[in-house]
Amino acid sequence: MRDRLLYRAPAQSVGRATVPSGARPSALADTLLRLIWQEREISRAELARRTELSRSTVSELVASLIERELVAEAGVGESSGGRRPINLHFRDDACRIVGLDIGATHLTVVITDLRGRVLTTASHPCDVRHDPDGTRTLAAALIERSLQERSAGRAPLLGIGIGLPCPVDPRHPERLSPLVLPAWEGRHGFDALQRAFNAPLFLDNDANLGALAEQWWGAGRGVRDFTYIKVATGIGSGHVIDGAVRRGATGVAGEIGHVAIDPRGELCGCGNRGCLQTFVGAAALVRRAESLLADFPSSALHASKRKRALTIAAIEAAAIDDDPLAVQVVSEAAGHLGIAIAGLLNLQNPAAVIIGGGLARVGHRLLEPLRETVLRRTFVSAVAASEIKHSELGPLGVAVGAATLALEAALADPSLFPSVGAA
Ligand SMILES: [Zn+2]
Repeated sequence: MRDRLLYRAPAQSVGRATVPSGARPSALADTLLRLIWQEREISRAELARRTELSRSTVSELVASLIERELVAEAGVGESSGGRRPINLHFRDDACRIVGLDIGATHLTVVITDLRGRVLTTASHPCDVRHDPDGTRTLAAALIERSLQERSAGRAPLLGIGIGLPCPVDPRHPERLSPLVLPAWEGRHGFDALQRAFNAPLFLDNDANLGALAEQWWGAGRGVRDFTYIKVATGIGSGHVIDGAVRRGATGVAGEIGHVAIDPRGELCGCGNRGCLQTFVGAAALVRRAESLLADFPSSALHASKRKRALTIAAIEAAAIDDDPLAVQVVSEAAGHLGIAIAGLLNLQNPAAVIIGGGLARVGHRLLEPLRETVLRRTFVSAVAASEIKHSELGPLGVAVGAATLALEAALADPSLFPSVGAA
């Protein structure tokens, strides 16, 4: 059992199966397994044709996959004349995966199958930044409870994917950047989960996982180059370039929240001034709403403020109800976000920008002013090629992406699939 991160393109992008000459039988079985996962249903004859292996070799290898309970025989396929072939299908329910999204103020757990389907989910508020021990304890309890849910089934556990709200260095995933989570003292300390649930851990930055989830199952399917931007307590981005999530030399690629848009602006937690986050982060929006309250006497946010301190959730809810103050705050945020996105389009020319995170739920109230700003500030050709849209996976995106990280690793190295009977 190891901490590990893998950086391969998703199995969906595997075109034709290539079988190295003289490959070991286990490597051949791995190739067949990936093909069966990708095609969902396929005959032995088609596998032989696609891999250029002999029919008897394919039959032998498939028998081993059926024995491992990763593949099963399905209904009868289309006949091209002679005997009707029996199709094989990948058993999406052969294992379960835990995806854990560690936000700044909450934990979300999903249990998925091997096709990204969410079997069950649980979420709980948590003071992640200031309480590492409490976070670890709550994470273990939420995972335990979710695995016990009836809807989660009883299949063995493939792994635990974890999304962290800070950069994760691909070479040292065990170390945390002390800048974002100083109370964590540079270590995540989730090794106990690995022991408690007897499953490997897979760690990455939350926005990278949001991008991964959209790439495999959401708005980024079939898009080779896109950027995912998570707008929540903080602002993060994940970049899919040429079909793969790019993490940069030390995992800080995509820290768009710390792109300076006003060098004389407010001091940011990172030590610089006027970062995007100081304009669009949750705390900035709450401050802005408070400063505008007097100008909007009929705003519903007065009532929320009387009950308790104004929250980003209250602003989002009011914006969805078209409260003029909340809409104004969101629209200003879109203007600032647009400046950063325009720069990104000019630099990277992605085919799509996918907006996720809490603020994405206000929908067109954010996207429309955002598109307008971007249009004013980019080369026409860059913006014409890029579609700005919202995430398809919504609030579960990062957790599903965390589970997908484990699935991606297992499809790249099928020895990670737990052996039969090891529940
Ligand atoms: Zn900053």
